[in-house]
Amino acid sequence: MASNGAGLLNVAIIGAGPAGYYAAEALTGGDGNVHVDIIDRLPTPFGLIRAGVAPDHQSIKNVSRRYEATNSRENVRFVGNLALGRDITLAELRELYDAVVLATGAGKDRPLGIEGEDLSGVIGSAAFVGWYNAHPDYKDLNPDLRVASVAVIGNGNVAVDVARVLAKTASEMTSSDLAAHAASTIHGSPIRDIYILGRRGPLEASFTPKELGELNQLENCVALVKPEQLPDRAADESLTGAAKKNMATLRAIAANSPDAKPVRLHLQFYRRPMAIMGETCVCGIRLEETKVEDGKCVGTGMTEVLPVGLVVPCIGYRTSPIRDVPYSERYGCFENEGGRILDRLYCVGWARRGPTGTIGTNKPDGLEVANKILSEVKASGREGRDGLDRIVRERDLHIVTFQSWKKIEASEEAGAQAGAPRKKLVDVAEMVRIAES
Ligand code: NAP
Repeated sequence: MASNGAGLLNVAIIGAGPAGYYAAEALTGGDGNVHVDIIDRLPTPFGLIRAGVAPDHQSIKNVSRRYEATNSRENVRFVGNLALGRDITLAELRELYDAVVLATGAGKDRPLGIEGEDLSGVIGSAAFVGWYNAHPDYKDLNPDLRVASVAVIGNGNVAVDVARVLAKTASEMTSSDLAAHAASTIHGSPIRDIYILGRRGPLEASFTPKELGELNQLENCVALVKPEQLPDRAADESLTGAAKKNMATLRAIAANSPDAKPVRLHLQFYRRPMAIMGETCVCGIRLEETKVEDGKCVGTGMTEVLPVGLVVPCIGYRTSPIRDVPYSERYGCFENEGGRILDRLYCVGWARRGPTGTIGTNKPDGLEVANKILSEVKASGREGRDGLDRIVRERDLHIVTFQSWKKIEASEEAGAQAGAPRKKLVDVAEMVRIAES
């Protein structure tokens, strides 16, 4: 076990997702004498890579190899199945470590704030994505997909992911790691119409060209958009970058025939949700037609009801507050200045800047905060990982190390069906049992 000699900086990072790993990489990349413990409440590392990135986007998940390389550094440890608040307090961690970094992501759905939001059959993307990605928190979600049509609210990549995962056939998901419980429910569902609803127009949408393009290449499902919802072709000349590529795809989609395939995916712009209707469960959603003025969504007063049996709002996330940590209700993340929350307490990733950006955005973010920590925090002879190990022993906590996570990973890989990378386990107790075997 490493001794806590003079000059050794002990840092705890809470959250083993991309933000946490990039921060750890930057903290331990130089000549400095830094020890990092990456703590996660789950027995599995990699956060959103495992539970957020779509199950059919395996190539994106390859970035976890980089985090593995970070974890193979002698001065970096993964401490899984250790939950802040349940097993240890933030105050205790701040006592043990010179600096604590919150890399807890944004795991809560932003509320829609409309009538009917609490009806059964309204499932926010945090829960829905968690469910199909085998996140243990959502293994028992059991959404009722015995519906003919679904409204997916939002025009970001999460909305596109959700719609695509609902639309793809079992054979299109063969090489994915879609949770087994979700595969049987989705592929047995009678869904025929999927609506992606944007409250602004196609030029304001935040989905990216690759993701939009995938919607036009589905085996069993045809993407549709009403040509009148697209701007005049003359305006295409002035478009650049992602907007230009998206518009080209939308024009191709506008030429599709609704009868081309058995399932239809309707991209509807200029529609904002006003109320979700139903007595005990969802039977429709009332939408107001909108227009865009100075980039803002403005209601026209004209409304319509779309009959749907499931609503999946994909409208962004919020970081879960932590007791005694200043929190910005406005931005849904911790109050911070350049990553610094309080003396020796920092945040990175979505917990720092809100739920925006790709996985790669966390790299410069982690580097910036790591440099801040290295320049602001001095080693002070705190116990660090020795102290954490002591508490783990005293409390008889069943932590999962990186080596024991590899046993979980091997078990998932061994259980995979032909063509799939793994069969994800969903039960924490089972994962811990395998880790300890
Ligand atoms: P996002 O890109 O911010 O999209 C959120 C969408 O929700 C926007 O279209 C927004 O419309 C809409 N919205 C917000 N509040 C609403 C309301 N009250 N009513 C109706 N619509 C509302 O967020 P996201 O899709 O959750 O994605 C989060 C981040 O992860 C993004 O940076 C995304 O690119 C990234 N991500 C990337 C991938 C990938 O690369 N494959 C996959 C998933 C996620 P307005 O624009 O009008 O506000």
